[in-house]
Amino acid sequence: MKYNYGECEICDTKLIEKQIKQDFWVRGKLIVIDHVPAGVCPQCGGKVVRADVGKRISKLLEGHKKWPKAQVMEVPVVDYA
Ligand SMILES: [Zn+2]
Repeated sequence: MKYNYGECEICDTKLIEKQIKQDFWVRGKLIVIDHVPAGVCPQCGGKVVRADVGKRISKLLEGHKKWPKAQVMEVPVVDYA
């Protein structure tokens, strides 16, 4: 069954379910979780993640001992100043 994400809080557009990449900073490290199911607004790009998905993400972030085996991607770091 498809989860109904309802409408975007910002622009009231109906949210579409997509798998997104979510990034988190944990202890100074940037972690990207791929294929996160989320409601995405096609209008403004607003994102909503379900409560149970949020819980699963916290679990993944707690399991940091497994991270050395994870795929590592390099990201450009640009100084704002
Ligand atoms: Zn929106």
